[in-house]
Amino acid sequence: MEKEALLWVKLKDNKVMCHLCNHYCIIEENKAGYCLVRKNINGTLYSLNYGKAYGLAIDPIEKKPFFHFKPSTRVMSFGTPGCNFRCLNCQNWDLSQAVREFEDPFGVTDLLPSQIVSAAVNYQCDGYSYTYSEPTIFFEYARDVILEAKKVHKKAYHVFVSNGFFSQKMLELVLKERLLDAIRIDLKFIDDKKYNEITGGKLKPVLDNIKRVYESGLHLEVINLVIPSLNDSEQDITETVLAVKRVSSRIPIHFSAFHPDYKLMHLPRTPLETLLKAKKIAEDLGMEYVYVGNVHYYDGLEDTYCPSCKSLLIKRSGFNVVKNVFSNNKGIQISENKKPLCPKCGHEINMVL
Ligand code: SF4
Repeated sequence: MEKEALLWVKLKDNKVMCHLCNHYCIIEENKAGYCLVRKNINGTLYSLNYGKAYGLAIDPIEKKPFFHFKPSTRVMSFGTPGCNFRCLNCQNWDLSQAVREFEDPFGVTDLLPSQIVSAAVNYQCDGYSYTYSEPTIFFEYARDVILEAKKVHKKAYHVFVSNGFFSQKMLELVLKERLLDAIRIDLKFIDDKKYNEITGGKLKPVLDNIKRVYESGLHLEVINLVIPSLNDSEQDITETVLAVKRVSSRIPIHFSAFHPDYKLMHLPRTPLETLLKAKKIAEDLGMEYVYVGNVHYYDGLEDTYCPSCKSLLIKRSGFNVVKNVFSNNKGIQISENKKPLCPKCGHEINMVL
């Protein structure tokens, strides 16, 4: 289903300029933008992937991963074909790069926003996760799901799992309409040249968005996929951590293991030692909440501790929360910023319960 797009302007000669992400594509008539899912049809910009939900599933919020937002709750997750990045290592390339890779990338029955919301209500989901591919490039669809949920599933929350390359205008609209509660941003490389070579994106807009999202008050978590030989040196990791710390040491940061996929099949999996090194670097630099992900069965790497008194707050096993000191909500003290306080020492924990 084609849907007239948001956030674009008309230019002369029937060209349009898309303002949805930092590519700011200028698109000639009957051509698509870099993401290939926004097309100029007779001088009007249309979203081509509206209604094309793929991978509808119910996930624990921890799977996204969000470790400091509504722990133990369940989200309705979905994505659509298309992406504004072309990551050589994409684990969801069959969706994100579907338009480039397959003849019939939009070959699913349309799913209306109201149908997605009905499913989420029926399955008693606590929220919605716009994920798998970059949610920015299905913004109109995601926004309509959110607006529908706000009518009939009012208590539900909404999170974007994003590459952080959205435009300032998109974020302004998100804030103005109170569309989202949390965003998880992928900080993929700290070197702009590599950002461009491996993803097709750029570093600075992502860093700017990390700052903007944090300062907006939306809950933010950052993830860094550690890829052998591309961003796993001590210097890379240190600079990545410092870039996040310059915004706030309270932002939860996840180091995630790479496994060979798509066009980087020749690279090895990330060794556990590299991830442990990243965790130590981040903790030594003063980051308060540091996690290691995509490696299972290593006890303690996904647990949350109070940064002040070091007492265990949340214990996780895979995507399951097995202990949560905040779970019964009884006697939990909340700060002026509406954040829970550590039951042992009273330190404010950067977490949304
Ligand atoms: S969403 Fe980004 S990549 Fe797609 S058309 Fe708009 S500016 Fe270009």
